[in-house]
Amino acid sequence: MSNQSSSLNASIIPSEFTNPNLEVLYTAEQIKQRVIQLGQQISQDYAGNKNLVLIGILKGSCIFMADLMRAVDLELIIDFMAVSSYKDGTVSSGDIEILKDLTHPIRGKDVIICEDIVDTGLTLFRLTEILGSRGANSIRVATLLDKPETRKKEIKIDYCGFQVPNKFVVGCGLDAAGRYRNLPFIGVVKNPSL
Ligand code: 5GP
Repeated sequence: MSNQSSSLNASIIPSEFTNPNLEVLYTAEQIKQRVIQLGQQISQDYAGNKNLVLIGILKGSCIFMADLMRAVDLELIIDFMAVSSYKDGTVSSGDIEILKDLTHPIRGKDVIICEDIVDTGLTLFRLTEILGSRGANSIRVATLLDKPETRKKEIKIDYCGFQVPNKFVVGCGLDAAGRYRNLPFIGVVKNPSL
């Protein structure tokens, strides 16, 4: 393809990354820098620890988890869980269904749960109870985003990337009906019907 026709195509094909229906809250560079800071903090807090397990909650934490684990300068293992919350109509009941469980036991381990966002806190509250009942030595929470205005359950967040307003955010692993997970930034969809 000639340079001329490829630049012509680039101007015709709508770009997801510069979609005008998205308002950027945090840029890819801001996220990168913040996750490096979180990784450094974890490396200091757990220095000398050989029992650390990072547990990514799928699918939303996929990008945060991949970035965070590379910023932690410690011996560690990773694991993943997928959960969905049971709903009464559209309201979360607070209970969760485990769609994919861990592949390693966590008894005696020091666990950091990696979430994409803490909203009501109901998912994380229940998840912490479940993992605690399996004999983890300690459980901490790392989340890329925190939406404190909508909290229903008190949750201690040990490592937080950014606080966001009470808006539906997407990007960096977070989706809207499956879309936008691949955006390298965190944004708000201006018009959800588009
Ligand atoms: P919680 O139990 O804290 O209310 O909800 C946790 C889950 O709800 C998150 O892991 C995420 O999947 C979803 N969620 C909550 N707020 C948002 C949001 O603003 N955007 C997206 N894409 N997902 C959200």
